[in-house]
Formats: sequence, C-alpha cells, structure tokens
Amino acid sequence: MKKEIALKVKSKFVNKYKSGYPLIFKEAMMNVQALEEEGTIVKLVSERNQFIAKGYYGKQNKGYGWILSQKENEPIDQSFFERKIKKALQLRKKFFDSTETTAFRVFNGEGDGIGGLTIEYFAGYYLINWYSKGIYHFREEIIQSLQNLVEYKAIYQKKRFDTKGQYIEEDDFVTGERGQFPIVVKENGIHFAVYLNESAMVGVFLDQREVRRTIRDKYVKGKSVLNTFSYTGAFSVAAALGGASKTTSVDLANRSLNKTIEQFSLNEIDYEAQDIIVEDVFNYFKYAVRKQLKFDMVILDPPSFARSKKYVFSAEKDYKNLLKEAITITENNGIIVASTNCSSFGMGKFKGFIETAFKETGEKYKILEEFSLPSDFRTIKEFPEGNYLKVAFIKKLG
Ligand code: SAH
Repeated sequence: MKKEIALKVKSKFVNKYKSGYPLIFKEAMMNVQALEEEGTIVKLVSERNQFIAKGYYGKQNKGYGWILSQKENEPIDQSFFERKIKKALQLRKKFFDSTETTAFRVFNGEGDGIGGLTIEYFAGYYLINWYSKGIYHFREEIIQSLQNLVEYKAIYQKKRFDTKGQYIEEDDFVTGERGQFPIVVKENGIHFAVYLNESAMVGVFLDQREVRRTIRDKYVKGKSVLNTFSYTGAFSVAAALGGASKTTSVDLANRSLNKTIEQFSLNEIDYEAQDIIVEDVFNYFKYAVRKQLKFDMVILDPPSFARSKKYVFSAEKDYKNLLKEAITITENNGIIVASTNCSSFGMGKFKGFIETAFKETGEKYKILEEFSLPSDFRTIKEFPEGNYLKVAFIKKLG
C-alpha cells in the first residue's frame, strides 16, 4: 500500500466538500505543507479527524488535486479508473454512433469523476491529456483501463504539466499503430485535419462544435464574416460552408496561414477566394477602421491571456475593449459572436462586458442566443467553474 496523507479541512469548507466540491485548494486546508509527492492519495478529514473524501495530490494552476471518492473504503486502483472511464464512454454512446461526427471528448476531468484528466476521440484515435504530474502517476492504470474498454488505432497523450502548467514537447505516441497525420475527422459533416503528434493543439477545438454548426446553419448565407484569433480557421470553414459571401481570417501565428488553407481545401472551398491574414488582430482592427471596412459577422475567440509584440490581452481585463473594436466594424443588424474560454468569470460577468461595451459605443444590441460547453464536455453542478465556455450571438441593432 502506498502511503496516504491526511489533509485537515478548515471547518468552514467541510460542507463544501461534503456536498461534492471536487477541487482540493490551498485555502481550504490547514496543512497543505504535508503534501510531498504528487500522485499521493489524500484523505480529507475534519479537524476531529472524521473522514470527508479522498483524492490525489496533483499541482495545477487551479489547485492541489482532485477528489476521487466520497467513500472511505473505495480503493483507488485500476478497477476504480476503469469504472469511471466505462461510465463516461456509455454517456457518449450517441457520439460513437454518429456518422456525421467522428471527433468528441470521451472523458472530461472532474465532470466525469477524475479531475486533471481528459480523453478525446478522433476517428479511431484516442488522445489523453494529463494536467498534472499527480494524475500522470496513475498512467498505467488509466491507459490499461482504456485499452480494456475500447478498440483503437492508436493512443496519444499530451503532458500538460511543465513548471508553468504548459505542454511538454516530446513524442506523444503511447501505443497502437502510429497515425499518418493529418487524420481527417468529421464534425456535423465538416472536415477537419487533426495532428495528434505536433504540438499542444491538434487543429480543432471540439468544444465549439455547436457554435460552428449554428454559424453555418443560421447566420451567414450571403454574409461577410471576419474571424479573429482564427487559429486553423475552423469558424471560417463553417461560415464558408454556410454560404458566406467571403470570410476573412486573422491570426498572428505564421502556422495559421497553411493550416487554414488546409482546412478550406479539405472542405473543397477555394481558399483563394477567402482572405487569410497573418497579423496581430489589434493592428488589423486599426487597419479596418482606416479602410472603413464593415462586416456582417465578426467572430471573437481570443485566448484567455495572450502577449504579442505590442499588446497584452487578458480576457478579464480587456474583453470589453475587444468588443468595442468589433462593434465599430460590424454592420448595423450584423452579428458579433463573442466567445471566451476564460474560467475566472461566468456568463453574468461576460454579459456585463457586453452591456458596457455597447453603452460606451452608444449602440444598441440584442443577445440572440448563448452557448456553454456541449454535452460531451460533461460538467457537474458542484463545480460550475468547470463550465468555462461562454459564447453569445449578439445582434448590433441598426
Ligand atoms: N478561434 C480558434 C481558436 C483560437 S486559439 C478556433 O476556433 O479554432 C487562439 C489563437 O489566437 C491562436 O491561434 C493565437 O495564435 C491567436 N492569437 C493570440 N493573440 C493574438 C493577437 N494579438 N492577434 C492575432 N491572433 C492572436
């Protein structure tokens, strides 16, 4: 038996954990200094040493690990992980059965009972994301569980736990037969090229599936679309397939040009009829204002935090100003798709940014629809901050 460490929970946090809060965080504990080795099983106890829950120690920017069980006698072993993954797989049955969508998340961290771990499926390939050394400690049990439960072409992994909580660059292949990348996945009939062994990001963010479908099916026929922070141009592809008159994709990463050409080409869209611009979005806004460009739809999907040569962007501090830039170059009765994956604020505060941005520009608006994470990104009500995605379709009233 590996040694377990008892963490004493401060009395005012005891009920929080009893009612199912999954994250172990410093402020709630009396003795985090007792934690030494990541991957250690941690028993949360009250000041009088009564059992509350157990979990593992794993350092992430979010906290010190995750609760795994409320049962004192439940062993955290191979069979434990296999039960959790099996349940998660069952809940994604409709995704496995779909012929139109072949890429989705099969295991979503604390939403499926194991924080710090996600597993995604890409047309026969599985990708495991480890978010701490602590969860990586259980790799043998977890990989074995997956192997027992599914058929696969290959399993890949991303270790997202260097000292800054970033991706560790190395060969991501785990087992099976190495893929020939890109592999092509389908999402509601849209094709995307996916690279599982290239960098931290694989080419498409699966959490935006419903947003892409909505853009394609409801809003863009005959419309001009500006896609900012466009990465591989996934939103632009959805817009072009929905009949947009033209898309403009802007991202400052050099890779975005070839990646976007590739995504358009896979979907048989003539990329030369689209604009793909490698530039800082904030410079592009200035250019657009100078040229008096206006778009029927402007998509904003920035990272939570980004530093470019000239600008620092933090969603929490700067989203309102980003919206103001977008409002200026959106046609009357046009749509702004405002998206953020920043987990430090919720939909209420996000709507506050929208309200203020429109007030300060003297324009009127209406929110037409809202999105959060899709069902394969399972979340639990005890941990609302796990539902990080916020997307609003905003009409700028003319
Ligand atoms: N919207 C994309 C995902 C965005 S990922 C999608 O749906 O797939 C964030 C992207 O923002 C990255 O590709 C990064 O290169 C880009 N980025 C970050 N700061 C930027 C800036 N100041 N100007 C332009 N692009 C930026």
